[in-house]
Amino acid sequence: MPMMDAQIRQCVDPTCRFRFPWTEHDPPALRCPRCGAPVDIVRTLPQRAEAGERECSALDGPPLAALLDNVRSAFNVGSIFRCADGAGVAHLYLCGVTPTPANPKVAKTALGAEQSIPCSHHNNAIDLARQLKAEGWRLWALEGGPAAQSLAGAALPAGAGVVLVAGNEVTGVDLGLLALCERTVAIPMWGVKRSLNVAVAFGVAVYALRFRWLNHSCFENRKLQVANNPSSSKK
Ligand SMILES: [Zn+2]
Repeated sequence: MPMMDAQIRQCVDPTCRFRFPWTEHDPPALRCPRCGAPVDIVRTLPQRAEAGERECSALDGPPLAALLDNVRSAFNVGSIFRCADGAGVAHLYLCGVTPTPANPKVAKTALGAEQSIPCSHHNNAIDLARQLKAEGWRLWALEGGPAAQSLAGAALPAGAGVVLVAGNEVTGVDLGLLALCERTVAIPMWGVKRSLNVAVAFGVAVYALRFRWLNHSCFENRKLQVANNPSSSKK
């Protein structure tokens, strides 16, 4: 990220005290956007450090890719790019009407991640799905419904790559595409709504699969340690 001036400003009116961030890219904010009173600069922000450690390489665990079919919102696609980057997704297949990084709205939410993840556009998701299956990828649809398995119980298969398939915000995953998927995984829902925003669902799903794999491999390492050094398991 480029260097930039960033501040926290706060309204001086004691009944308002509206507190908000300001950067040099924002319009001048000498007055409170809520009440119009003057504002103070209460804090100058240091450059934001890169949060989070690089936990593992994309090769840690089976490869993960994603197929977005007819995802309409460029903001959703941008969020998915950013999340895919974080979770070590190898490739994003963008199908049908799904916007590509050529759309500036994708870049706006992806914040650069759209340049770090290989992606390709395909007119017909079903043609692509058949090709990916022939190459040995397993297709998992991210979708609710009676046939869906809870994501909480879904473990990545060792040795085989999984393509997570997400569909349109309103109509869901195309039934023809769903029929080509080896399994359907759903996120457990506790509230009144039956589904999450597609980008949020995608984020939950890729991280759930990755965490599960990490725990699984830690468990395997532990077993290995115990096997090599039986005294370490004494109670
Ligand atoms: Zn104010």
